[in-house]
Amino acid sequence: MSPAKTTRKLNLTNIILLSSLLLTTLTALPWYAIHVGISRSEWLLFLGFVIATGLSITVGYHRLFAHRSFQASPLITFLALFFGAGALEQSALLWSSQHRDHHRYVDTDRDPYNIKQGFWYAHIGWMLFWHEKPTTVNVEDLRANALIMHQHRYYLSWAITAGVFLPLAIGAVTGHLLGAFLLGVVGRLTLVHHSTWSINSICHTFGKATYDIDATARDHWLVAFLTNGEGYHNFHHRFASDYRNGVRWYQWDPSKWAIALLSWCGLAKKLYRTAPQAILAAKTAAEHQRVERALGLQQQEGIAALLEKVRERYGALKTALQEWEYVEKEYYRVRNAVAEKSQAYLRSIQQQVHERREAFIIARHQWVAFINTNPSIPRTAHI
Ligand SMILES: [Zn+2]
Ligand SMILES: [Zn+2]
Repeated sequence: MSPAKTTRKLNLTNIILLSSLLLTTLTALPWYAIHVGISRSEWLLFLGFVIATGLSITVGYHRLFAHRSFQASPLITFLALFFGAGALEQSALLWSSQHRDHHRYVDTDRDPYNIKQGFWYAHIGWMLFWHEKPTTVNVEDLRANALIMHQHRYYLSWAITAGVFLPLAIGAVTGHLLGAFLLGVVGRLTLVHHSTWSINSICHTFGKATYDIDATARDHWLVAFLTNGEGYHNFHHRFASDYRNGVRWYQWDPSKWAIALLSWCGLAKKLYRTAPQAILAAKTAAEHQRVERALGLQQQEGIAALLEKVRERYGALKTALQEWEYVEKEYYRVRNAVAEKSQAYLRSIQQQVHERREAFIIARHQWVAFINTNPSIPRTAHI
């Protein structure tokens, strides 16, 4: 048997729908804003639906269903499915299946939004030309959830109810039916669509490679701002099970704050957090690789000796990190082992964890100073 041919066909439904949304947003919406004006209730409807459907994609479709990075109560699952359907980005089952393929086969032909096929293909082209019916074999776990399957089977009813009827009904009640259609449906869909897709295009082309310098996925603060925190994509591809994408406390990630808030209210549990030492190990390894590559391109005298020094410093940093990780693991092991629990011993290990962490911080400061102040290390490799 010959292998199945992969021919590209035009997806007419998507072409008509997505181009109509964009054209109406760019023409009728500004006309309405200038000639009729946008009232406060219309702005509120727009913002409310941008937040509800946007968060249902990032917190629900992405972090809850596709990555299972936490567990949610049935109420939250329902709301994520309802407003997620209202974003018109397919059923949660299909979305998750494609997204899992994106992570597993990233940058290959089996990646649905493969950036190697071009910026615009990754952004929107994959939906306009895509022909293959997804197999969904990679979402068997989600099939066990009756609500997810109901949303999948009756997706169109869910999508039209949440994404079209509900905003129009609110518009009818407030006396702004046309405004509700242009802002609450069309403009809102265009904004949420293109924000979501910019992760596949912008975040696989521009930005910082903080944790994996070979990944096409990048950390981009502007996309993070537009997508409730999804723009920290280099981190996300490296640690996909983590419920956070912006892992530093100050990084703009309203999705992680929403999940933490749900957990605090008892509506979410088992939030998965990567150990800080694993994150720091990836970060320092990326810094080291960047220096090695930058110096490897140089022909100056003394580069071999400098590389030797860099490796020595990096080795010291790695050892400090491993020692901290070791005592911390020991601390949790003792704390959880009832038989061995001795308060005095536990306190002494806790003290060691503190000391090792401090030692790592000092080693890291020395590493950063060494890289950033050495005149032979190019600025592109600075931390
Ligand atoms: Zn990606
Ligand atoms: Zn993901």
